[in-house]
Amino acid sequence: MNRIMRVLSVQGVSIVGLLAMAGCAKAPEPQAAAPVTAVVYEGATLLAGDGLTPVENGLLVVDQGRIVAVGAAGAVTAPAGAAHVDLKGKTVIPAIIDGHTHLSTNRDALLLDLKRRAFFGVAAALSLGTDGDGTPLEVRDEVIPGSARYRSAGLGITAPEPGRNPVHWVTTEEEARAAVQAEIARKADFIKVWVDDRDGKYKKLSPALYRAVIDEAHKAGLKTAAHIFALDDAKELLRAGIDIFAHGVRDRDIDDEFIAMVKARPNVVLIPNMGARGVVADLGWLSGALPAEALAKLQETNQDQPPLQKAYAIQARNLKKLSDAGMTIGFGTDGNTPWGPYVEMEDMVIAGMTPAQVLVSATRNSAAISGFTDQGTLAAGKSADFVVLDANPLEDIMNARKIADVYLRGVKVERGAYP
Ligand SMILES: [Zn+2]
Repeated sequence: MNRIMRVLSVQGVSIVGLLAMAGCAKAPEPQAAAPVTAVVYEGATLLAGDGLTPVENGLLVVDQGRIVAVGAAGAVTAPAGAAHVDLKGKTVIPAIIDGHTHLSTNRDALLLDLKRRAFFGVAAALSLGTDGDGTPLEVRDEVIPGSARYRSAGLGITAPEPGRNPVHWVTTEEEARAAVQAEIARKADFIKVWVDDRDGKYKKLSPALYRAVIDEAHKAGLKTAAHIFALDDAKELLRAGIDIFAHGVRDRDIDDEFIAMVKARPNVVLIPNMGARGVVADLGWLSGALPAEALAKLQETNQDQPPLQKAYAIQARNLKKLSDAGMTIGFGTDGNTPWGPYVEMEDMVIAGMTPAQVLVSATRNSAAISGFTDQGTLAAGKSADFVVLDANPLEDIMNARKIADVYLRGVKVERGAYP
């Protein structure tokens, strides 16, 4: 009770009486009830919270694009007047976050990329280092209905690689720092470096130069993500203070020294990017989504490729070791394949991670690493970005492909035809 009320009650004068005395006896106008905008999704198994813990017969309450409550029926109360959506028999996961892509660099094509990701339940994508001048980076600040969100590392940095995509090709420390400054000026979300001799074809970005890049980025509060191939480079990058590996080690099996170095740096994360397994894949699950010609084109290259199998096996063993060692595993697909996340999830499970670990990587971890701080989990306060599945992916990761509906910011994505 505040002071005035206390005085009033001491004097035994009701507020209405006081108002009457003051000549304002009009009865208060009935307040128009605010329209109820909440929607309750009920009956599904919700893979909720940081660990994607299954909540059977769950209630997911969404209001104005945000999740406002998540829990078991009985533990969460549905707001009076809320709309109800019956999801009995379904499983709900947070929408996927793809932390390593290379998206289109003109506006129309980029918007299409983002729409296609939404179609496949991907709520956000980080484009990692191929977004040069003219790329519509302002799309990062736009909220586009039915589209994934977008972040960009701008244009990445490496040593000269004539014949490859021109990025920042640097040969001196001054050039390396200037390249970082150029990306800071463009408000890049991350800094990207490539450290790879491309099968001996090029001189790699030297430690002195990537140390300058990482230092310059850190001074501006930006993290640096490294494309790597070889174990020795991965170790040297750790010594140089790298934040994110945008690939796993691919030239050999990692050793105890590397695992110890990773354990000593708990903030360093790995986006595995497993690459193709080199075996014939069943593409049938895409037949309802992709146009027939696009699917036929995919089938043309769908064959056994033993060299890829060998490369995959190295990465798979390395991923399993680092996951077991407790390294934070992120998630990314490289390139520009909107459905790529479902292939990557399968590849990571075959490597030995559990479906739960892989789903956490692809949602919570990937959101945190990529800077999409209000996405990646089903939790109160998060953006209502979720995928309704016909079966539970914790039982079989292939069930993640059985998409019934996709919701972004609380709105169902139109999935009648592939964009
Ligand atoms: Zn890449």
